[in-house]
Amino acid sequence: MIKQKMLHEGKVKSIWTTDDPEICIAEFSDRITAGDGLKKAELPGKGVLLNKISSLLFARLAAAGVPSHFIWAIDDSSMLVKKAQLLPLEVVVRNRTAGSICRRLGLAPNLVIEPPLVEFYWKNDAFHDPLLTREHIAMLNLVSDEQYAEIVKQALAVNQVLTKVFAQAGLDLADFKLEFGLSQGQVLLIDEISPDSCRLWLAGTTQGLDKDRFRNDTGDVLEGYREVLKRLLATEK
Ligand code: UDP
Repeated sequence: MIKQKMLHEGKVKSIWTTDDPEICIAEFSDRITAGDGLKKAELPGKGVLLNKISSLLFARLAAAGVPSHFIWAIDDSSMLVKKAQLLPLEVVVRNRTAGSICRRLGLAPNLVIEPPLVEFYWKNDAFHDPLLTREHIAMLNLVSDEQYAEIVKQALAVNQVLTKVFAQAGLDLADFKLEFGLSQGQVLLIDEISPDSCRLWLAGTTQGLDKDRFRNDTGDVLEGYREVLKRLLATEK
């Protein structure tokens, strides 16, 4: 597969075209950002860790019958992915209260949310990714009712699989963010699944191994990410 031109440079990843029009390369950089991109740093080795974690999780999802854009990891920091048209939504699934839902609703952290909550945010930097109701999504014509229902279904299926995978690794999946695209007209899980986009707590605690270490300066970020990978790899034996 020949890497051709950069299609999109994100805050953390870049997407490249290949000689196959249906296939792209997603390359993880060593950058990390938080707080609307205001806080940023370069953490050498982060891209490799994220590529390994994301690839492993997408493979586990595929094995459990949940498809995504992931094809395979082609080198240390890149995955081969199916080309998809990005939907401008961030889909958050919450099993425990943390982060913005605590700030917004004045809730204590680590309350169990049952059934899990699925939230939608508009991927829109100018408006700081606002929370959207289903009616806003319809009004803005972001996705159809059918696509909305399909996204909720897939997000909950991802949650079921990942909650189990992380539990085997001794980690509680408090919440996470997913992105979806359209591939041949169908809703498809895209982007990444990693400690940049998940809150992962040592089982039975609120001790995070995820990006909250960077957001809140609560520990060595890469050490947390390495521990997540080590624990996930141990579940594959
Ligand atoms: N998240 C993300 N990208 C974003 C916003 C949130 O990956 O732009 C993830 C975040 O890591 C967490 C979940 O989505 O796992 C819920 O985040 P929350 O809404 O609590 O926002 P935060 O407290 O991170 O600002």
